[in-house]
Amino acid sequence: MRAVAVIPKQRGSVHLVEMNEPKTSDVPGGRGVKVKTLRVGGCGTDREINNAEYGIAPEGFDYLVLGHENLGQVVETGENAKEFAVGDYVVATVRRPGKSIYDQIGEQDMTTDNEYFERGISRLHGYFAEFYVESADFMVKLPPSLKEVGVLLEPLSIVEKGLQQAFELQERLKIWQPKRAAVIGTGSVGLLTVMAMRMRGLEVHGFGKDKKEGYLNAQLCEEIGASYDSTMEISVADAAKKYGAFDIVFECTGYSPIVWDAALGAAKNGVLILSSVTGGERRAEIQSDKINIEFVLGNKLMFGTVNAGREHFAAGVKDLALCEAMHPDWLDKMLTHPVNGIENFAQMFQNLNGGVPGMIKTFCEISP
Ligand SMILES: [Zn+2]
Repeated sequence: MRAVAVIPKQRGSVHLVEMNEPKTSDVPGGRGVKVKTLRVGGCGTDREINNAEYGIAPEGFDYLVLGHENLGQVVETGENAKEFAVGDYVVATVRRPGKSIYDQIGEQDMTTDNEYFERGISRLHGYFAEFYVESADFMVKLPPSLKEVGVLLEPLSIVEKGLQQAFELQERLKIWQPKRAAVIGTGSVGLLTVMAMRMRGLEVHGFGKDKKEGYLNAQLCEEIGASYDSTMEISVADAAKKYGAFDIVFECTGYSPIVWDAALGAAKNGVLILSSVTGGERRAEIQSDKINIEFVLGNKLMFGTVNAGREHFAAGVKDLALCEAMHPDWLDKMLTHPVNGIENFAQMFQNLNGGVPGMIKTFCEISP
């Protein structure tokens, strides 16, 4: 079978490789499920791996098969994986257990290990291949009605984890009834965050860098009942004065200095969720006294979140289904740049390298 791989630490090395098809028996205990890959989504992580910023090959290989955002269809199940049936639509999670105590209890998204195992990213081949085999323990099933948008589930799982953690952390308050939220950054993850919070009935305000006029992402915010403002025109702190302070601020811009502006928008007892992976060395001048005193006197909370567990994928399936029911076609509009056929993988990386107007999400359709 064909797969799309990089040679880690070699810039622009993305290429096709020929591999043997995996077998359900590759997973011990009869738990293997063989999946025909339908779609693989691309994001900044794939771009950065191809730009040699990170990515580690599995032991015994000099290449790493890419692909962590996935959607496929079951073609064969192991004898002890009968919760899945041939023809089921499935999405597999990304991180696999390592050594820490969190990994040992199935909470590998909270690992404290420095060396971790993520399919398509670190030490494990990904899903950018015609077939993959995975343990039933790491897969979720989607209804057939979500097959057109299911490739958005993996990025949505990150959002689901952040929100679930926020609600768990806020149990410190005995009662917490968030009403107003801000989403900083309206790229694909930001839009999914806007969606997930709208599905929870919150008043949501999206913030992006681009001007609103003619900006598809801003239009999508409004179509789902959120507002949109450009941070070039209003700061998050000023927006909190205009709209009222935000019980939840979810930051997903990739631009760290804006965190400190976002912090000033959080309401008393509010929560600021950080999800941007910022590998650079940016520095910023901040209003440290003001941020500090407001966090102290307002009992505010800031936390970071990364990766997601199976339960967050499962929560994402419900939000996707609810969104399809409430706003048909909204999720479809996020899938702006399809690439047809695994052999045209290079087009996806061109899309990811930027400068493509109107792009929200690019993905490769490996099998229709
Ligand atoms: Zn991704």
